[in-house]
Amino acid sequence: MTMKVLGYAAQSAKVPLAAFEFTRRSPRDDDVVVDVLYCGVCHSDLHQARNDWGGSQYPVIPGHEVVGRVKSVGKNVTKFKAGDNVGIGCMVDSCRVCQPCQHGIEQYCQEGCVQTYNGFDRHDGLPTYGGYSKTILASEDFILKMPDGLDLKGAAPLLCAGITTWSPLRHFKVGKGSKVAVVGLGGLGHMALKLAHALGADVTLFTRSPGKEDDARRLGAQHIVISTDDQQMKAVSGQFDLIIDTVPYEHDINPYMPTLTLDGTLVFVGLLGDITPVLSTLPLIMGRRSVTGSAIGSIKETQEMLDFCGEHGIVSDIEMIKMPEINDAYERMIKSDVKYRFVIDMDTLQA
Ligand code: NAP
Ligand code: ZN
Ligand code: ZN
Repeated sequence: MTMKVLGYAAQSAKVPLAAFEFTRRSPRDDDVVVDVLYCGVCHSDLHQARNDWGGSQYPVIPGHEVVGRVKSVGKNVTKFKAGDNVGIGCMVDSCRVCQPCQHGIEQYCQEGCVQTYNGFDRHDGLPTYGGYSKTILASEDFILKMPDGLDLKGAAPLLCAGITTWSPLRHFKVGKGSKVAVVGLGGLGHMALKLAHALGADVTLFTRSPGKEDDARRLGAQHIVISTDDQQMKAVSGQFDLIIDTVPYEHDINPYMPTLTLDGTLVFVGLLGDITPVLSTLPLIMGRRSVTGSAIGSIKETQEMLDFCGEHGIVSDIEMIKMPEINDAYERMIKSDVKYRFVIDMDTLQA
């Protein structure tokens, strides 16, 4: 039986989000049905609600930092039971047979993983709808166990901002002795500072915004560099093993390249699109430096990250909002006026 669910939807790129009743697909035998408690607000929600990347399928019901309580489970579910605290991140399925899926990196599924919203179910072809809603469901293989003892509100952003920065930190083997820099102090950026610091790295923040220094230090940065100040940029020449660039919009990365060490890597997690202006290959060739990108993280990695955060008491710095405040929250996010993640209390979603 399909489910009637109350959500908050963008009906087109130009109109504000508003309450909307929609139909979710019928639960299957491997599905976990979840009552949503809290949902983090990612800049990707805004991009997709407003069709910044093209291809948005309306109505879009965003939300992929979902924390909730299990309402019911299908008869084949073995890992979860009613009442468990669980999370759902950016994907809810994948083909499960291609090489990346077989190797446990299903975010790189060759058929494309199924996004939590603005995707299509692999079985019945119905659109997927995200966590700005009262109820959500997914196969148990795409459900995360929330560690005991973590504040569930603050833990919601770990499901995207956390894993998206954790994955490159782990892939590039960041630990004690590593020098890591993070570009942009927003949702992803502040999680990158916390996680890199907890992994033992020496951490630097690149920001355009003077005034974020105290916060950056509190969040785990030992050094802060104002990226628009040439002198400050020169002073960190040749230093970083890894730069994680979280900036959502086109920006010049040429000034960052010489700050990488020999064999250092700049990894894009923020920008989906063209690098402009033209990127000089000189620092790449002269220092064997690389530019790459990274997409979210696997379910296995996400569970590892959640467990790590549970052990280290790491959650996001959040500002709770009511569901109807989402449109203002998007405007504030564009102005970088968020410290450092909005989280929606789903009790405040009313018809
Ligand atoms: P956010 O909270 O809005 O933070 C972005 C930060 O980037 C801002 O706080 C600001 O930091 C800096 N910034 C913003 N506009 C800029 C500009 N025009 N030039 C230079 N710096 C700018 O966003 P978020 O939620 O962290 O998301 C960041 C990006 O990651 C989004 O594009 C999102 O879609 C993407 N994303 C990607 C993945 C993935 O799998 N790769 C997953 C999740 C999100 P300062 O004020 O410190 O400069
Ligand atoms: Zn996200
Ligand atoms: Zn696959």
